[in-house]
Amino acid sequence: MSQPIPRQALDRCPPYVQGKSAIAGVENPIKLSSNESPFGPSPHAREAFRQTAETLHRYPDGGQTALRQVIASKFGIEEERIVCGNGSEELILLCIRAFIDPGDEVLVSENGFVMTRIHALVQGAEIVVAAEDGWDQSVDHILAGVTDKTRIVAIANPNNPTGTYLPASEIQRLHAGLPGTVLLLLDGAYADYVLQEDFDSGLELVRHSENVIMTRTFSKLYGLAGMRIGWAYAPMCVISAIQRIRTPFNTNWPAQAAAASALQDTEFADMVRDHTIKWREHMREQLMALDIIVPPSVTNFLLMQIPESHSSTALGAAKFLTENGILLRPTGVSGPGDCLRVTVGSAEENEAFLVKITQYMRTETRS
Ligand SMILES: *Cc1c(COP(=O)(O)O)cnc(C)c1O
Repeated sequence: MSQPIPRQALDRCPPYVQGKSAIAGVENPIKLSSNESPFGPSPHAREAFRQTAETLHRYPDGGQTALRQVIASKFGIEEERIVCGNGSEELILLCIRAFIDPGDEVLVSENGFVMTRIHALVQGAEIVVAAEDGWDQSVDHILAGVTDKTRIVAIANPNNPTGTYLPASEIQRLHAGLPGTVLLLLDGAYADYVLQEDFDSGLELVRHSENVIMTRTFSKLYGLAGMRIGWAYAPMCVISAIQRIRTPFNTNWPAQAAAASALQDTEFADMVRDHTIKWREHMREQLMALDIIVPPSVTNFLLMQIPESHSSTALGAAKFLTENGILLRPTGVSGPGDCLRVTVGSAEENEAFLVKITQYMRTETRS
């Protein structure tokens, strides 16, 4: 029997594995597997979302005008150099579609966002992987991976799943080492959590360059993962290429409205960030006291590596926690082997997690 045959490039794509959200037989599992906000969106964003129920028969504003204005004024950037997407992931996809021909090279860091690789492979690109240096992305290794076929260098800063970041000086050094024809894509999904003074999400670099794009999301700090909304800031040459190929209504009304309100509720965002940082540091301390290796994180998650000398393993821990109704993310697919990633949740969720991981580590050590 004959069948339609998908493009050959698809054969090379690893499947995206979503963080688990259900456990058979457990009614309300504690989900610390997808870096979502335990608070959800600001009450103002919820209200803005509800109001859009009255205008669902209308097409959204294809120009994304109101939302772009709010973003521009919040960050002090040019409205015309902003474009919004169906999650920041769509903006990464559009960037790849706009700049990559088959055979071009996309250079990513070892633990980079798996969706970047998938989109690049579908486009027919070759993926070049730069090794990381311990828990950090290595500017030296990335620069060493650049060839005359490189078109995009994509890194997440802060990085996922390590939670670490490169300071502005390192990103500047990376940018300075790239030919002007190479587009530097800075995925700033976790930038909203970072207070470190030597960090730049890319705002400054994009403002003064022709070959840098920064993507941001409302999925994490702003608690709108289910709405699918993100934005990018880039020079006009990049923005106009993306504008030419994006579908006019890629971002829907409810998402635009909720995101604009969320961004204006600074108090709520500060509360979420404060909670996250406080608990993240507490959890890191507790985990390290159990001899788990935990790189310093500036995000809403922690990476845990169970030392080789220990009788237990990351998968063993994941299994034990799952049996106790707690979902974490093993990072074997997109991250360092034998590690687990835990999202900072609500106080109760974090406490429950700490109790169980302590129980697991203590029991395994005795055995
Ligand atoms: C969560 C995350 C995103 C956000 O994706 P959205 O499509 O905006 O939800 C992007 N990059 C990384 C590395 C992430 O972890």
